[in-house]
Amino acid sequence: MHPVSSLIVCHACDLVQRLERPDAPARLRCARCRAELWRRSGARRDQALALCATALLLLGPSLSYPLMSMSLEDATRATTLPGAASALFLQGYPVLGSLVLVTAILVPLVQLLALSYVLASLAWRASAPGAQALLRLLALLRPWAMSEVFLLGALVALVKLAGLAQVLPGIALACYAAFMVVLAALAWVAPPEQVWAWIEEAGWPARS
Ligand SMILES: [Zn+2]
Repeated sequence: MHPVSSLIVCHACDLVQRLERPDAPARLRCARCRAELWRRSGARRDQALALCATALLLLGPSLSYPLMSMSLEDATRATTLPGAASALFLQGYPVLGSLVLVTAILVPLVQLLALSYVLASLAWRASAPGAQALLRLLALLRPWAMSEVFLLGALVALVKLAGLAQVLPGIALACYAAFMVVLAALAWVAPPEQVWAWIEEAGWPARS
């Protein structure tokens, strides 16, 4: 197959350039700012499926166990990740609570379920109605997945609160940190171009 040439706009600096997309694992960068424009990892799709399953397994305890506990005098309070979002709602910060709920829980969960559905269908050579629409949805959701921002915020809160009370990180914080690492690995193994390559290899209808 010959390399496909196409015009592409850099998402970082808006430079319009013509790229020749190779038919092999590669990474193409912007000619001006070196931002990554296109990447095919060459990984196997079962590696991506295993990472999806690991991330989903880690998300369970991340949501159900305490994120951190705080002791002040004789009182001890612990909160879970969904509990932290609902506490923001109850304390009059509905926008902040919604952002935590959407960016730290819902968007990563929908992304993982959608990608797992496509990869599992490819692995079992089953038809997957709506798979291409789901992949487009993944592209739309990508900017809204911010697990690393949430984790950074939680760690900053942990350090700040440590001066006021005894604060202990919970199991969920460790699980969520591992979840974030697995998501980063998944993003490396299964960039959009690689997922489309797996789909083309499987002989699914070409993207329209
Ligand atoms: Zn650029």
